Amino acid sequence: MCSQRARRAGLVGLLFMMTVCFPVTAAAQVDVSSAKNQIYAFLDGNSGDFISTADAIWSYAELGFQEFKSAEALKKLLEKHGFAVETGVAGMPTAMVATWGEGTPVIGFTGEYDALPGLSQKTVAHKDPVVSGAPGHGCGHNLLGTTGAAAAIALKHVMEANKIPGTLKFFGCPAEESGSAKIFLARDGIFNGTDVILDNHPGDNFESESGAHTSALKLLNITFTGKAAHAGSAPWDGKSAADAAAIMGVAIEHLREHLYFTHRIHYIVQQGGAWPNIVPDKVVVIAYVRDSDERLPDTYEKVLNCIKAGALASGCEYNVEVVKAYHQKHSNDALAKLIFENMKQVGLPEWTEEEQAFAKEMQKNFEKKETGLPDEFTFTPPPAVFTGGGSTDVGEISLIVPVATVNTPCRAKGIAGHSWGVVASGGMSIGHKGMIVGAKTLAATAIDILASPETLEKIKAEFDELTQKTPYIPYVPKEVGPSLDLFEQEMPKWRPLMEPFYKEQKL
Ligand SMILES: [Zn+2]
Repeated sequence: MCSQRARRAGLVGLLFMMTVCFPVTAAAQVDVSSAKNQIYAFLDGNSGDFISTADAIWSYAELGFQEFKSAEALKKLLEKHGFAVETGVAGMPTAMVATWGEGTPVIGFTGEYDALPGLSQKTVAHKDPVVSGAPGHGCGHNLLGTTGAAAAIALKHVMEANKIPGTLKFFGCPAEESGSAKIFLARDGIFNGTDVILDNHPGDNFESESGAHTSALKLLNITFTGKAAHAGSAPWDGKSAADAAAIMGVAIEHLREHLYFTHRIHYIVQQGGAWPNIVPDKVVVIAYVRDSDERLPDTYEKVLNCIKAGALASGCEYNVEVVKAYHQKHSNDALAKLIFENMKQVGLPEWTEEEQAFAKEMQKNFEKKETGLPDEFTFTPPPAVFTGGGSTDVGEISLIVPVATVNTPCRAKGIAGHSWGVVASGGMSIGHKGMIVGAKTLAATAIDILASPETLEKIKAEFDELTQKTPYIPYVPKEVGPSLDLFEQEMPKWRPLMEPFYKEQKL
């Protein structure tokens, strides 16, 4: 029933588009309907390249800033299809920018390809790791990176065939889950000069989202330094770094009552002392401070006062290192609506009975309702009231270039992110189908932008209004660089164990 609805929506869109040819310049015309059909045909006809790339990256499952093989696979794919690829951008070996074309508009696509620790999983509907304890693609970034690349590649072929002017860029952004490369790519001006960025993320629905739903974030590394002493015979000689952390915690818990409800503060003691009979002279706390862009600076200052209070009361020293920080993601409403229209034209994947059975078995194992695979199109408007939530480093782009995201239907409804269920679905036909409809949606949206300068003007006017209110000011201090060594020790431990299960990229 739902694919019938999709076909009907597609037909209406097609009839509408067939009546109009928008001028790009005096010289170039874009037959929108024909160009979109060429996009769909190209992605279906070349799906083997994209599926084999996504599966290879799935099998490599490399952690943040260790995505050497994954970045190489995407580079090979993009180069095969005529893109010039620059790697190692902004000082990050696994970051890349792939470019094709010339002139304006400049249309960008995002790609992520990092995995998560401990989530190794086979493509089965019950929990069963490939290598126990090894990393796995628990956020579906094997599909994310390939979706963005596939959209850029399809668009390139159609622009070339139809002599449509413009520049395409694929931004390879490592370590989304940990080191947040986009902060540093943004700070180095890598996104500057791009007119619009089309983002995607694998999900349990087919969705376009507008406005600011995520929180701005600061990740802090807090060190209290005291003075060690014998806790029994001479405690008066000591200054306890653990006391400093405890007082900081009490101050933060009291602070919560007086913060606006949009805040989120969470922290762990990463290093808490060696033994109870030694007054601890060093304690390390890792803390997240999140809020709206508007309120984060104030909330951060108040948390800083709690840290200072801990140090003052205990006689310790403190040091606060901002490890990473980024803004809320402000999805452009005009662009999000355009993505939504294209989603409906593309339609949902045609799921087989086996895929539905797989999805329902997984839902049963997750104790969710057995409703099967995504079967509708969702448009999520800006929140009436922002109540706070998770964060993404795409936020950093959203104040430099107008951006919006398509969430692609890549797993059973209700299966939580960062779980083995995401890994299982992302390495098989369900994830592949979601990736292809996602790439079609993004490339078709780009065709609308290429065909209509008025559409781009509208997107940009909304963006200008946003950035007048919320200008891009990097939260991360100049001296802070990407934490390239995050998983430098961890990843080499797993590679030899995972290698026998690597899937070959066949281009
Ligand atoms: Zn993700």
